[in-house]
Amino acid sequence: MSQIPSGPYPKGLTHSTSDPIRSIETFYVRPRWLFVRVETEKGIVGWGEATLEGHTEAVEGAFVELRERFVGWDSANIEDIWQTAYRARFYRGGPVLMSAISGLDIALWDIKGKTLGVPIWQLLGGKVRNRCKVYSWIGGDKPSDVLAEAQARKDEGFTAVKMNAVESLDWLDSPRALEGTIERVKQVKSIGLDVGLDFHGRVHRPLAKQLAKALEPYNPLFIEEPLLPGQQEEIKSLYGMTSVPIALGERLFTRQDVRPYFEAGCIDIVQPDVAHAGGISEVRRIASMAETYDIALAPHCPLGPIAFAACLQLGFTTPNFVICEMSWKMHYNTEAGGGHDLLTYISNPSVFSVHDGSVALLEGNGLGIEVDEARVREEDAKFREGSVEAWRNPVWRGPDGGIREWL
Ligand SMILES: [Mg+2]
Repeated sequence: MSQIPSGPYPKGLTHSTSDPIRSIETFYVRPRWLFVRVETEKGIVGWGEATLEGHTEAVEGAFVELRERFVGWDSANIEDIWQTAYRARFYRGGPVLMSAISGLDIALWDIKGKTLGVPIWQLLGGKVRNRCKVYSWIGGDKPSDVLAEAQARKDEGFTAVKMNAVESLDWLDSPRALEGTIERVKQVKSIGLDVGLDFHGRVHRPLAKQLAKALEPYNPLFIEEPLLPGQQEEIKSLYGMTSVPIALGERLFTRQDVRPYFEAGCIDIVQPDVAHAGGISEVRRIASMAETYDIALAPHCPLGPIAFAACLQLGFTTPNFVICEMSWKMHYNTEAGGGHDLLTYISNPSVFSVHDGSVALLEGNGLGIEVDEARVREEDAKFREGSVEAWRNPVWRGPDGGIREWL
């Protein structure tokens, strides 16, 4: 029987070829991303993304404890570190703690791939496809004329887009508020693109059933978050009213969180966010759970290049993967100022090229991207010195002053 290690944070499991974690750093970069850099004693650097939009400081607070605990642990023991970070504490789950674990987990997978000289998809069992289908965003937070944007994405190689279904809505709003949605879907479909509709949790029950019904003749790719998470019974009743696939999952953070939706039979597509739902390790497990319910995986990723690369690594090796979000020219990126977009912080952007609606197999070791560290450090320094402010969630109110759902 092995001896129980002493001290508050024993250095985990070790073996003869251990490469301990030397440092764990976090970097805030515009438009709204939190990157994680882990370096080992042998000098291998792995990158992760722990972006939790609007809550950067909270996630960085969670990293105080992760850094204290895991520096000195063998970087190769990803699962042991994941289990320790998740279970060896009284409080577990939730967006803040899970986003921090996500960033660390992704960086450790990057390190393992670089150490062994293979892409992450090789470590997860090898590829099951040569390309990953992706979709981009059009229309912004308050969609108006989407046709020009849809045409631009089509010209750039996309075959599918997503847009917000509606602007802000009251619990019960005029049915006229839905007419614009139908018109926009018709416009996008008219140029041959598939379109997913994100209800964004903005639509409450009285209008959600109307909108789902009204969209049905136009065959959207899916409707996303038709109601707020936590309402699986209400979503299930909606599920029975429409043939349009229902997607959900960006605000679920663990296997335990997705389980009631799977068991209720109220979704067709699960959308965990690799930067929020425990990283590559947990999203892989969620995908396997989903497969047993015949549910597809479509990673949520309105985030940065590290999260996107992690999603693609999963996509290349996950049988029930169908499509991944890609934040190229997303309104959050363009509205943040400074010209920062998906490709800003990587020096091999061609790996994300989109052709025929998909991205080709990432061949590089680890995540397959080269992070421009100098650029990341330069941008983070602006945040630390106060010349760049952290991104915050908009607060929406209706004409009567009452608060409305933004996200
Ligand atoms: Mg969404």
